[in-house]
Amino acid sequence: MLFAGWRAARARSRAPGDSETRQARAFSILTAAALGFNLKTTPMTSLFRRHFLCAAWLLLAALPGAGQYRDPLPVPDIPGYRTLKCDLHIHTVFSDGDVWPTTRVSEAWREGLDVIAITDHAGYNPKDPDVKLDLTRPYAIAAPLAARLGIILIPGVEVMEGDTHFNLLFVTDPNAFLKLRLADALRAAHARNAFITWNHPGWRQPAAWFPNVAALYDEKPFHGVELVNGHDYYPPAFPWIEEKKLTILANTDVHAPTYPAYTGRNRPLTLVFARTPDSEGVREALFARRTAAWMGGEMWGNEEYLRGLWQAAVGVENDQLTFAPGRTQAVLRLRNRSALRFVLGSPKTAGWLRASGAELQPEGGAGIALSVTKEAPAGGQTVQLEFEVTNLHTAPGRNLAVSVPLRVQVQQP
Ligand SMILES: [Zn+2]
Ligand SMILES: [Zn+2]
Repeated sequence: MLFAGWRAARARSRAPGDSETRQARAFSILTAAALGFNLKTTPMTSLFRRHFLCAAWLLLAALPGAGQYRDPLPVPDIPGYRTLKCDLHIHTVFSDGDVWPTTRVSEAWREGLDVIAITDHAGYNPKDPDVKLDLTRPYAIAAPLAARLGIILIPGVEVMEGDTHFNLLFVTDPNAFLKLRLADALRAAHARNAFITWNHPGWRQPAAWFPNVAALYDEKPFHGVELVNGHDYYPPAFPWIEEKKLTILANTDVHAPTYPAYTGRNRPLTLVFARTPDSEGVREALFARRTAAWMGGEMWGNEEYLRGLWQAAVGVENDQLTFAPGRTQAVLRLRNRSALRFVLGSPKTAGWLRASGAELQPEGGAGIALSVTKEAPAGGQTVQLEFEVTNLHTAPGRNLAVSVPLRVQVQQP
């Protein structure tokens, strides 16, 4: 039953024309791009197409690092919402990044993301002598590939004054912000109904609700804050989520190529719980504060959403355990179908039952060691194991509490 949400999500992703077909089509597009073909204009018989794709597979498999493979990065949907994996703070050569906009799209596709926002700086454009300063270009260049690969691309721009930086998402005229002072830029962004986030609040100095930021918030509240930026987590920012009613974000702010800084699924991401998997769905969810921050196996977010992820991701393989006469030990097996990690402390349960904690690795299983004492009542009992998930943080100093029901049969000699 715990897997119900997961199965529904998998069934949806296997619907005709969806995930697998999309994967194959995306592979063809990337392969053809790598080999200099245009699949639309190159005439192909089906036999030629088959040979072409076989040859492409072999060629790419032979080139280390060149194979185009999308990490499924499984994160389940939660009741009522699609879970979208997002990086909403990324740079390109149009400000101080090192890569071309389409590279950001193919990185996102390979690394299993659903949504990105390219947010080049307005007012800090050191590549200006080499790249024409027009901040509409990153979105325009990236959009066709994003559409073909099914990546949702959000327009955006980063504005700043000193070390205080804000992202303005869903802004479609970023050049209007090139010469504005920060306070004026935020006013202009509010007038455009932009989603406004305070970036890296602990960059270069410990995070604090600085007077200049407080003044901006007091004039008109901005909407979100980066709890995580790159490899940094800012503990002082966590209480602001509830105090200031901000949306939680975790983004890379990546400037170099994502490889090798982010390998092995360590890219920080914002999980967005959206009604619909499209730009409007992302926007609605961001304003409604339905997000979680995910970085390095840790997660921060509202209890309802983290519980939804746990319930959809983790299942019990053997929820009926029998202790035969003279037998006092047994193992409860849990399985995690997601790319998330769950660290369980020793649970609270009935006094006659002892149980260990466990660490559920991504897409792995774990055993909970159980033992009964002499006081165990004979016969069948339903007990609850009340775990604290110590790496899922629902509020400052508070972690997710979950309950695993278990049927225990103790046989008397
Ligand atoms: Zn910045
Ligand atoms: Zn940035």
